[in-house]
Formats: sequence, C-alpha cells, structure tokens
Amino acid sequence: MALLSRSLRDRLLATLEAEGILTLLKARALSVVDATPLPYVRLEVNAGEDGLVAHCTGIWFDVRPLVGLEGEADYYLPVLGVSQDASGPTIAHELLHLHDMLALIEQDPSYPERALKLSINSISDPSEIEGSIDFELFKIFAMEPQAYRLEYEMGETWIEVFDAGRPIRYHCATAEELVAMRMADYVASLERRYAKKFPGHEATIRQAVRVSVSHHGRAVFGSPVYEQIQQVNAQSSLKLLVQMLQKRSG
Ligand SMILES: [Zn+2]
Repeated sequence: MALLSRSLRDRLLATLEAEGILTLLKARALSVVDATPLPYVRLEVNAGEDGLVAHCTGIWFDVRPLVGLEGEADYYLPVLGVSQDASGPTIAHELLHLHDMLALIEQDPSYPERALKLSINSISDPSEIEGSIDFELFKIFAMEPQAYRLEYEMGETWIEVFDAGRPIRYHCATAEELVAMRMADYVASLERRYAKKFPGHEATIRQAVRVSVSHHGRAVFGSPVYEQIQQVNAQSSLKLLVQMLQKRSG
C-alpha cells in the first residue's frame, strides 16, 4: 500500500500510463481514490464496450523503480475500472470484489499467478481449456454471489434487458432470485465466450463447465448444478418475455 501513498502516487500513475495500461484496459484516465480501508487505482472506462460498466482486475508490473530494491519485480496491483455513469451499487459491487480479491490473495498467494496463466484472455491452446474454465468458475462463484446480494440490498433489485433499444426490467422478489438469475446468465455467457474463442471444442467446453460448476456452484444452485443453471436461464427468459409483453400491451 506504500505504493499508493501520497508521495508515490504521481509516479505510480505515470508509470502505469507509460506501461500502456490505459490502452490495455481500454480506459481514458486513471487516478488514485482515497478510500478506507484501502486506497485504490480507478480507471475511467467507456461504458458499453463489451457491455461493461465496471470491472475489477489486476495488473502486473515491476515496482522496483518506484519503491526501491526491496520491491518486487512482479507486483500485482488490483485496479478498478469504472465508467462515469456507473451507479453507487455498481461501484460498491466492484469495491467488494477488490476487497475479496485481496483476501483471496492473502489466503492463497498463488492466486494472481494463476489468474495471469489461466484466465480466458490468457490461454491460447485448447489443452488449457479445462484448467482455465475451472479457474474462471472458481473465481466467479468465490466473488459474485455476495456482490449481487449487496447490489440488491442497496436497491438495484432488477434484471435489465433491451427490447428494440428500450430497457425492460424484471424486478426480483428476493436477493436469492437475483443472485441465481445473474449467476446462471454469467455461466452461460462464459461458456459462449469459450465456444467463440475455441470453435470445434464445444463438447470439451460444455463438459468442463459441467464438472467445474458441480464443484463451485453447489451453494448457489443445489444439485445437479448444471441442470439447475439451465433451468434458471429458461425461467429467466420466460420472466423477461412476460415483462416485455406486459410493457407492449400496457
Ligand atoms: Zn462482479
């Protein structure tokens, strides 16, 4: 955290910019936000790119030029990307990720390295599909349920989709309903991203998702997890369809 101290932050931001972080993470600007318990780096991202309004990630860089020789050559700095119009609950969601990610790293120091090696954007060989899917699903189930629950508690209790450019909102009755709908959608879209990245490997991908969700998703979905996820997604489509028809006739 010395890295984010007042004396170092200008040089830190200049270093991150020089390393090409803005281009890499499609951001317009970066700043340090003084927050308790931890200050953090905030990137201004453009909303809508890849459907993204906010995200929490980490960057690796050599901190020795900043903090001296006792610093690490491979330092992992968590960062938060947020668009200007992100809501309070959205920012709170990402801050909770930041908090949970630091706890994860403390618990398991190999986490950042695994993230670097195994994330969907890092892998290129089909032999890495299973390990990567297991890592992504571990991460999603370790971090997302509590963040969605927090959004619900802060008043963002709906699922939103767009019908011919018009927003359609389905209001969830409970936090658990919201968590299940969002997690099921998250898993399905992750599966689609792998299928898009590795065409011809759909069966391997599906099987890997099936195996990994049964390890990581039981607390949210009960068992059999993969079938429950498919059922939740089918129900979500119906709920949104009903909402859409009501809006059209209303
Ligand atoms: Zn999240």
